[in-house]
Amino acid sequence: MERYDRQMKFNDFGKNSQKNLMSATLMVMGAGALGTHVSEMLVRMGAGKLIIIDMDIVEMTNLHRQALYTEKDAEDMTLKVNAAKEKLCQINRNVEIVPINTEINSSNISAILRKYQPDIVIDSMDHFEIRFLINEACHKLDIPWVYGAAVGSKGSVYGIDFKGPCLKCLMETLPSTGESCAINGVLPPVISLIASMEVSEVIRYLSGKGFSKQLITVDTFKIGFQTINIDELKNEDCVVCKNRIYEQLNKNMLPTVQSNCGSVYTLRFDESVFNQELPGKTIRASAFVKLLTYKKYKLTLFKDGRMNVHGISRKEEANALYKEMIEKLSEYPV
Ligand SMILES: [Zn+2]
Repeated sequence: MERYDRQMKFNDFGKNSQKNLMSATLMVMGAGALGTHVSEMLVRMGAGKLIIIDMDIVEMTNLHRQALYTEKDAEDMTLKVNAAKEKLCQINRNVEIVPINTEINSSNISAILRKYQPDIVIDSMDHFEIRFLINEACHKLDIPWVYGAAVGSKGSVYGIDFKGPCLKCLMETLPSTGESCAINGVLPPVISLIASMEVSEVIRYLSGKGFSKQLITVDTFKIGFQTINIDELKNEDCVVCKNRIYEQLNKNMLPTVQSNCGSVYTLRFDESVFNQELPGKTIRASAFVKLLTYKKYKLTLFKDGRMNVHGISRKEEANALYKEMIEKLSEYPV
């Protein structure tokens, strides 16, 4: 306990909140910019158990804004969850870190939440749609969660306990942080600020004071800070928090061609593809990932059959490439 002396001396936090934090199970969804900052702070503060979920490897373009990772992690194509665990264990050996290398989607989110029973979920994802899935899954299983998003120099945070409006209720009000950070860029200061506000909401909740009930928005370039009282924003007809209709959660098919950040598309193949002969040239390979070039494209193939394609600007082009890949793959022995 001694190592936490300075935070326990803060009156509104104190010994009791420290004990609550040390017995809490917290789930961080996404180990990118927000997720690494959130995780580092929670581990330094002495969280009991931290479950970190992510599906990607560390890349050089992550390093300017993501905590914990090093150039060596990027060179070694280390899985983010493994690189994060390694560093977090060095920071505080008393915290149990559970890394989960998987894509969060409608087919696994409920099972993951049921298995690990987090006290709070902290959103650290980098695309907008997934947050509506988190909203539905957490509402269904009655788990409080903290929404956090950052793009450009703007970000927003909102702690959701379902007594107030849910994310779906706020859809019309949310600032436009739904844009992709690969297209619009993102400045590191907004990341650490939003991550700090997310942790602040977690700390409030664990101290028994509850979430702030504010939708917080910040701009770290114009230097502005705004809070909106959310009480009047609750939608009395909300499909999620009033009618318990979970459209995202009930979608059982993942798209085979999906637009991601910027000019990156994800093509989904069967996981057996990872171990078969592939079209194009393999540049580097590990047990989890293969980097390839094919025509003008740079491809990253993951063990679960996901292929990220860099250099596509239109959906039609992505669809055509997917078809071409399927044809090529069928020509090679499995
Ligand atoms: Zn709602």
